[in-house]
Amino acid sequence: MLLFTNLNLLARVDNPLENTSLVSNRLKLTFEHKIEKVRYFTIKKNGIIKHVYDIKNALLLSGKTIKNLKADGVESLRIGQFNQHILRIVIESKYFLAKRHRLKNRTLTIYLPSYKRVLPKTVKQIKKYHYSRKRHQKLVILDAGHGGRDIGASNKRVREKDLTLSMTLRLREILKRMGYRVLMTRSKDKTVSLKQRTDFANKYKGDIFVSIHVDAAPIKRTPKVKYEGITVFYLSTKNTKRINNRRIVYRGKEVYTIREYKQMIGDKKRIYAKKLAIKVRNSVLRHLRKRYRDVNDKGIKRKPYWVLLATTMPSILVETGYISNKNEVERLQDKTYQSVLVYGIAKGINSYFGL
Ligand SMILES: [Zn+2]
Repeated sequence: MLLFTNLNLLARVDNPLENTSLVSNRLKLTFEHKIEKVRYFTIKKNGIIKHVYDIKNALLLSGKTIKNLKADGVESLRIGQFNQHILRIVIESKYFLAKRHRLKNRTLTIYLPSYKRVLPKTVKQIKKYHYSRKRHQKLVILDAGHGGRDIGASNKRVREKDLTLSMTLRLREILKRMGYRVLMTRSKDKTVSLKQRTDFANKYKGDIFVSIHVDAAPIKRTPKVKYEGITVFYLSTKNTKRINNRRIVYRGKEVYTIREYKQMIGDKKRIYAKKLAIKVRNSVLRHLRKRYRDVNDKGIKRKPYWVLLATTMPSILVETGYISNKNEVERLQDKTYQSVLVYGIAKGINSYFGL
């Protein structure tokens, strides 16, 4: 009698793995019996995340480790017998899991770290970000750099004016979906002078002004300077004589020098512009680096660009990358890259407004 009880206690129910399927980013494991327990944990090392699943009392009948499974965004995937009680699944990836795994009776579903799913690829996927009424009170002026006769920088057939328009249209779409009011200084390929751009922004009294550009390395390159990455500019506080004495038109006929203009708008605008620049830069890098780990940060810089100076609201100019850089020119033409980049800008704007 005693012996019988002991045997019963010792006898664990082996639960053999019956079937394994991998469809897109979903790994499905089906066992013979109901799954008892799954333990999930991660180990991070050198930028790689090891996602480990231990399945209690599960058994790999062949005893041979399964390692021929391949998936997007996954470095390696192994299913093996860890010890006689535990079946272990190890997924190595640079990314976090798309969703929590699901356990249902005999089936364990693991959502592999497919970055495509976590990041907004198209505007449609951004729909889920809730619309805010408060955002409706904010007007964002978007400025697609160059246009028409002014092609901006170029690299073979790739022209800055096309890239800036494409990115700005995407940005408008995202901001609108979030609930912002948005106006653009140009929404098609046409020539718009710098003065027309700032006059437009001032006329409609935008809350912020965001200008989108693409950088290019100068012909005479400075050694050690990396001509790659993202820079966010805001108004310079440097007072060079040449700039300060430039005359600008403000509100129709009145003409001021830039020195007078600066005094007129005060420091407040510049302080807010700096805040906006910081928020946008941080957000863009954070979002882009989830997928493109090597994106270079050129930081926040001050420049007395016309659009930063002659706008009455806090304004920034985003240099989204270098058209002259082989890697970046490819990415800047890529729709996904553009979407993630402008999504980062939109989220940065959100955080600037505290919404
Ligand atoms: Zn430009």
